Amino acid sequence: MKELGRRCSLCNKKAVVYIPYQRRYYCKDHFVEFLINKVRSTIKRYKLIKNRDKVLVALSGGKDSAVMMDILFKLSKDFGFKLAAVHIDLGIEGFSDESRKVVEQQARRLGANLVVVRLNEILGVGLTELSRKARRPPCSVCGLVKRYLLNLAALVSGASKLALGHNLDDIMAYALKGFLTQDLRYISKLGPSTESIDDLAVGRIRPLYEVYESETRLYAQLLEIPVVKSRCPHFRPNQMEVELKNVINDIEQERPGMKLSFIRRFVRNIQYYPGINEDIIPCKYCGMISSTGECSFCRLTKRIFGEPMGPRAKRYLKDLFDVQNLWT
Ligand code: SF4
Ligand code: ZN
Ligand code: ZN
Repeated sequence: MKELGRRCSLCNKKAVVYIPYQRRYYCKDHFVEFLINKVRSTIKRYKLIKNRDKVLVALSGGKDSAVMMDILFKLSKDFGFKLAAVHIDLGIEGFSDESRKVVEQQARRLGANLVVVRLNEILGVGLTELSRKARRPPCSVCGLVKRYLLNLAALVSGASKLALGHNLDDIMAYALKGFLTQDLRYISKLGPSTESIDDLAVGRIRPLYEVYESETRLYAQLLEIPVVKSRCPHFRPNQMEVELKNVINDIEQERPGMKLSFIRRFVRNIQYYPGINEDIIPCKYCGMISSTGECSFCRLTKRIFGEPMGPRAKRYLKDLFDVQNLWT
C-alpha cells in the first residue's frame, strides 16, 4: 500500500488514498465507507433495486464482481433486498478451477448462497473446445454463452434482478468504442439497467456504474477480498479499449471528475441511440429472448451439435436450482 504521508480528511488516521474529484484524503475505514455510500447513491440515482428484490450477482472470480457482491451484501438490509450469487464455470483448463475456488471463498466469507453452473455438464465440452468447434474466437463464444446462461439462471432462480460488475472505466471505454466504430445499437445497451421482460429476460443492473476501476482495486486490496490471480489463457487485450482507457485516464488526471460527468450525461442521452426498441420474439426452441425467433445460443449449438441445446440448458438449470433454496 502506498504511503501518502498525509492524514485522512475526516479523521486523524493515516490516509491510504487521495480522491482528486473530491479533493479528499481517506484512511482505510473512511475509503470503505465512501465506496459503499457511492454504490448506495448509484442504486438510488438510477433506481436499480427495490425493496424485496431478489438480486442474483454474477460472480466471475475477478475483483469487480467480488467488490460489488461485498458492497451489495452490506447494503441489502438497508434496501431490504435478498442476495445470492451465480458463477459460470466455463471448463477452461486450470483457470476455471481456480475461478470456481475463488468465488466459493468469496461467497463463504459473506455467508452468501452460490450456485455454480458448469458448461461441461450442459454441453459435454468446455469453452475452449466449443470455440474450436464453432470456429469463432473464444471471447466471442464466451460472451454469448455467459449472457445466455446468466439470464437463464436468473429466470430459473426466480431472481428479479441480475447484477453485473462492470465499472465506470469499462462502460466509458465500451461507449467510446461504440461511438468510434459507429456501433450505436451496442451503445444503447450500456445503461445502468435494463427492464425485465416477463418469462424472457431478467432486468440487469450495474451497481458499479459510477465506480472507478482504481476504486474497486483498492477496496479489494484493503479488505483482502480473494480474487483470481491467473489470467484466462484466451485473454487478448482489446487494443482499442486499452488505448481508450489510457486516454480517458489522462483526461481524468487533468480534469478530475470528468468520468463521472460523462457517465451522467451519457445516461441522459442513451434513449436517443437506436436499438432500444428491437423486436422481441421468444426462441422457438428454448423460449428465451431473441430478435429473430431463434436465440444465438440455440443457433450456435444447433450448428455445432446438430441440435439446439437451449432446452437442455434449461432442464439442467431447473434441476440445479431445485436442490438449493437460494433465497433463504
Ligand atoms: Fe471468456 Fe475471453 Fe474472458 Fe477468457 S478472456 S473468460 S474466454 S471473455
Ligand atoms: Zn478517516
Ligand atoms: Zn433458444
